[in-house]
Amino acid sequence: MTFIGTGYLGATYAICYAELGYEVIGFDVDVDKIEKLGKGEVPFHEPGLDEMLRRNLAAGRLRFTTSYQETADFGDVHFICVGTPQRASGLGADLTYVEASVSNLAQHLSRKALIVGKSTVPVGTAEWVEQLVAKHARPELAVEVAWSPEFLQEGFAVDDVMRPNRIVVATKTEWSNSLLHAAHKGVFDLAATEDREVPVVSTDFATAELVKVAANSFLATKISFINAMAEVCEVAGGDITQLARALGYDPRIGNRFLQSGVGFGGGCLPKDIRAFQARAQELGAGEALRFLHEVDLINLRRRQRVLNLAAGLLGRKFGPAGPDLSGARIAVLGATFKPNSDDVRDAPALAVAGMLSRAGASVHVYDPQGMENAKRALPEVEYAKSMVEAVTDADLVCVLTEWAEFRNADPVALGEVAANKLIVDGRNCLDATAWKSAGWTLRALGRPTV
Ligand code: NAD
Repeated sequence: MTFIGTGYLGATYAICYAELGYEVIGFDVDVDKIEKLGKGEVPFHEPGLDEMLRRNLAAGRLRFTTSYQETADFGDVHFICVGTPQRASGLGADLTYVEASVSNLAQHLSRKALIVGKSTVPVGTAEWVEQLVAKHARPELAVEVAWSPEFLQEGFAVDDVMRPNRIVVATKTEWSNSLLHAAHKGVFDLAATEDREVPVVSTDFATAELVKVAANSFLATKISFINAMAEVCEVAGGDITQLARALGYDPRIGNRFLQSGVGFGGGCLPKDIRAFQARAQELGAGEALRFLHEVDLINLRRRQRVLNLAAGLLGRKFGPAGPDLSGARIAVLGATFKPNSDDVRDAPALAVAGMLSRAGASVHVYDPQGMENAKRALPEVEYAKSMVEAVTDADLVCVLTEWAEFRNADPVALGEVAANKLIVDGRNCLDATAWKSAGWTLRALGRPTV
């Protein structure tokens, strides 16, 4: 089997499926990425993946290439894992990478094969991919298309791929259905040895495409719901962490994704809820998803709230263009959109760092894994080599990604190097009592001042 596009999704899959015993090729147009992978270097941070990559390269089950011909000749099943980012103009998804990868692959095929879409796409894309294949592949090969959306979470990707909580498949023929089943056999066999079952939902193209964006819309809504409650707590004097805890005990609600903070980000949730709205609009169902616009706005407002909290703590004035933070030195702890990842795509932490900097502050960012990506994405701020370096001489500290290193930081030691003991907990992840006892003034989103 082959994985086309070796980013977070495709590389993780290629490596994990080699680990499950399949013969795998990973293909990408990015020469640097392919060279790194071929040398045993995972081009992003994902716990557990490096060693697995090297083991499977050495075992000869896994290789990487930039050749469409080699890829087409090798695979019976080709998984499309290319990016589907937000378009430069508008909310919709940019499908140019899907189009390029499918068209090129189809042209190079010389035997019957199955092309399986895994990228997150607007509903209707699978049918369009079928048309692309019909246009570019030799008709006598009868190449088929299937869809199987992906639900892995960065930071837990290896386990999510090897032990998925469900597999959704959409196929049109018995041939493609049995081939796709065989392509997942390693996952089913592993589950059997661990006395588990992996639920399989077999459905049509449209439902398979919709499951993914519906799932992400639900998760985004849950986060924005609790953040909307945090907004109300802020004016009413409530405590969002206690409110969330009390809500979470209701099994109908559950406590996951109910952590109030600076909001969601990353390469999936923001662009997926926007593309879903754009597609629903095209289909005449825009009203049904109008709430997702609010979900997005609530999420973005949290970033502004951190800026305002920072200005308030520093006693700064608000002009018509927002607060003036000139002369203030601010430590931003966190750059990635979540811990255990180096992904800074649409990361709230980095967005806030940019806002603080534009308000005039001298911003010093530190993140345990995201420094390289952050420097590329936001070159205009300073980067520290450690948490202590970032906090040294800071007038204010903002914790914006809940890395364990920050959660477990020693408030006494940091208090000795900071210029002021002022801290914004943008993730409600710090032990407020411990920070208060060490003399810090802590402000958190959705909670009273400590
Ligand atoms: P990514 O940007 O990390 O990787 C995309 C890769 O596609 C890049 O390496 C790029 O070079 C490659 N590519 C672009 N054009 C290509 C072409 N013509 N042929 C081959 N490769 C090409 O993105 P990602 O995070 O891996 O996401 C990929 C898809 O999976 C997206 O649709 C995303 O929404 C979806 N997804 C991602 C995750 C996740 O956690 N990252 C989870 C579920 C679904």
